[in-house]
Amino acid sequence: MKVTLLDRPDPTVCATAAGMCYNAKDPWKALLNAMAGGHESVLEHCKFSFMIEGVSRALLAQLTRHRIASFSVQSQRYVSYKDGFDYVTPPAILALGADAEKRYHNQMEMMHMWYCEWLQNDVTPEDARFVLPNACATKLVVTMNARELRHFFSLRCCNRAQWEIREMADEMLRICKENAYSLFADAGPGCVRGACPEGKHSCGKPRNKEQVSV
Ligand SMILES: Cc1cc2nc3c(=O)[nH]c(=O)nc-3n(C[C@H](O)[C@H](O)[C@H](O)COP(=O)(O)OP(=O)(O)OC[C@H]3O[C@@H](n4cnc5c(N)ncnc54)[C@H](O)[C@@H]3O)c2cc1C
Repeated sequence: MKVTLLDRPDPTVCATAAGMCYNAKDPWKALLNAMAGGHESVLEHCKFSFMIEGVSRALLAQLTRHRIASFSVQSQRYVSYKDGFDYVTPPAILALGADAEKRYHNQMEMMHMWYCEWLQNDVTPEDARFVLPNACATKLVVTMNARELRHFFSLRCCNRAQWEIREMADEMLRICKENAYSLFADAGPGCVRGACPEGKHSCGKPRNKEQVSV
């Protein structure tokens, strides 16, 4: 998995907006007050675009549930995998050892054979891809504003989130903190800010700030 920030987000715009709302002398203090008071629309003025590579289509299905984000995804209709496709191997399968990893690889090879069989029968990539797995790797560009990102981190940096999207969300949060710390100082799963919001579904292992910090 590779996560790359494509733009230079400017958190100053959020501070300027918050300062303007309250005619404040110190726009950064106004921003902190706005965030603490739930006046979160000021966070929508700062956007982040990420290139995400080497993640599975299983992750893609989860990521695209976040409706406030904008997406551009590599096409499986127009990009042919006739020479093979990259895929993601779950750590749980890798942990079973070399034999399991080989078996998994052979299963991917088998699906690639099925895919090529359809291409050879003049079926287009958009239809041949129906035999491809969720493991198939994809790449995409996603843009989210800081408000949506904070919401995304609450859900996807949580231990209840699936491992692959959690790994990606953790890396995105690390990058966001590096580039706009003031907007993300307390971002992450709910347990970073206080009690776990998951109730009886809580993992019971709160992730502390260090686990999700720069
Ligand atoms: C641990 C976990 C398990 C999950 N399991 C399942 C599952 O089994 N099945 C399943 O289908 N999904 C599942 N999901 C996905 C989940 O239901 C959400 O679709 C996904 O997390 C996106 O969240 P969201 O809607 O809050 O975010 P976004 O779409 O990014 O929206 C952000 C916020 O904007 C507001 N908003 C956006 N659109 C609307 C709207 N139309 N109306 C009102 N308010 C809106 C809401 O306040 C929302 O929280 C799971 C998610 C997690 C984290």
